[in-house]
Amino acid sequence: MAERIDGKAMARAMLAETTAAVADLEARGISPALAVVLVGADPASEVYVGRKVRECEKAGIRSIEHRLAADTDEDALIALIDEMNVDGAIHGILIQLPLPAHINASRVLDRITPGKDVDGFHPVNVGRLSTGTGGLVPCTPLGIMKLLDSVIEDYRGLDAVVIGKSNIVGKPVAMLLLEREATVTVTHIETKGLPDIARKADIIVAAAGAPHLVRGYWVKEGAVVIDVGITRVTDHDGHTKIVGDCATHELEHARAVTPVPGGVGPMTIACLLANTVSAARATLESEPA
Ligand code: NAD
Repeated sequence: MAERIDGKAMARAMLAETTAAVADLEARGISPALAVVLVGADPASEVYVGRKVRECEKAGIRSIEHRLAADTDEDALIALIDEMNVDGAIHGILIQLPLPAHINASRVLDRITPGKDVDGFHPVNVGRLSTGTGGLVPCTPLGIMKLLDSVIEDYRGLDAVVIGKSNIVGKPVAMLLLEREATVTVTHIETKGLPDIARKADIIVAAAGAPHLVRGYWVKEGAVVIDVGITRVTDHDGHTKIVGDCATHELEHARAVTPVPGGVGPMTIACLLANTVSAARATLESEPA
């Protein structure tokens, strides 16, 4: 029977470590702070922002919320980022996506100073990740690696198949797996013969947003499967539930799988807080002794 990797428990443990790290920084005169910017009132974004702010509070991280009207001008948002970039009391800046259509998201995200880019989306951080030279790593891929690390000690030579090639999950997780010297195949909607490719993998990271895409016959005996997908579906009785990318009930021959919910999701927030603490600690290290 496949082991269920408990993302909730791992996230709790990480949050405890973050809380201790915050206390340590406080003792050294730094109060880690995360600024969260929400433009408009997208209900899902409201939920995500609320969750991030609550978790910050639990860990002792100060959160500063900027809730802007849906018709906020792009230049006004850029001006706010410029202010936060030079504000020494703010260590992390998070712009909740998606932004309204009239705003050029990449111009906005590129404006965040790389040292405060706790989402790891700035081209400098993307470049650092692809050259293996540090920087802030996107939260979901970071969480995925921590989940994998709980069951895999040595990645060298393992075959990893990543399903999905987005900038926020698929590509960065592929880079992290490459750094560990796994042999990585990145696949997407146009990939031919995906079940056969997946069946050769020791590690599958499914980040397609396609409910129950990964079936039992796609997965070889003993593989480790990380299910990143989150799709909200309504069943016949009108109940809404969250479904992942894997038909988990068909994967008992795998070595380990992550549940949805309770796998990658909680780790994403835990990694956001950890990134905020890293960004705060880096300011301490860059100060003259
Ligand atoms: P995206 O839409 O940007 O990218 C999806 C990728 O999957 C694309 O590269 C596409 O080509 C590929 N794809 C789609 N359908 C496919 C199919 N049938 N076969 C093969 N490839 C297919 O999505 P994203 O932002 O990377 O998110 C992916 C999923 O992960 C979504 O369900 C999202 O909600 C979820 N997600 C979860 C977390 C978390 O914290 N748990 C964080 C980010 C994203």
